[in-house]
Amino acid sequence: MSRRACTHLDQVTVHELPAEVDGCVDCLAIGGKWLHLRICLTCGHVGCCDDSPNRHATAHSHATSHAIIRSLEPGEEWSWCYVDEVAMSIEGVNGETRIPPSPLLQ
Ligand SMILES: [Zn+2]
Ligand SMILES: [Zn+2]
Ligand SMILES: [Zn+2]
Repeated sequence: MSRRACTHLDQVTVHELPAEVDGCVDCLAIGGKWLHLRICLTCGHVGCCDDSPNRHATAHSHATSHAIIRSLEPGEEWSWCYVDEVAMSIEGVNGETRIPPSPLLQ
C-alpha cells in the first residue's frame, strides 16, 4: 500500500496561527456548538471538526476547494488534506492559538 503525498502545499498561505480565536466562525454565526476547532491554511477560516454537529471545516473545504486544515487544539500540530485524505505535519506554520472550551463540553 503506497500512501499518496499531498500535492496542495502551495495552497498554504497561513504561516502564522492567530493568537486567539472565539470559536468556529460558522457556529458562532448560527448559535451552533463545536467540539474541536480546525483552521483552513489557505484563508484562515476557523471551522469545527467532523465530530461536531455541523462539520463546518469540511463544509468550508467543499465550498471553497481549500484543501488543507490544521488542528487548533492545544498540543496538536497535525494537518489534513481533504483531497488527498492524508494527515501530515506541515513545517513553517508557527504559533499557538488560544481557543475557548468547547460549548459541547460545558
Ligand atoms: Zn493535498
Ligand atoms: Zn461549526
Ligand atoms: Zn479556506
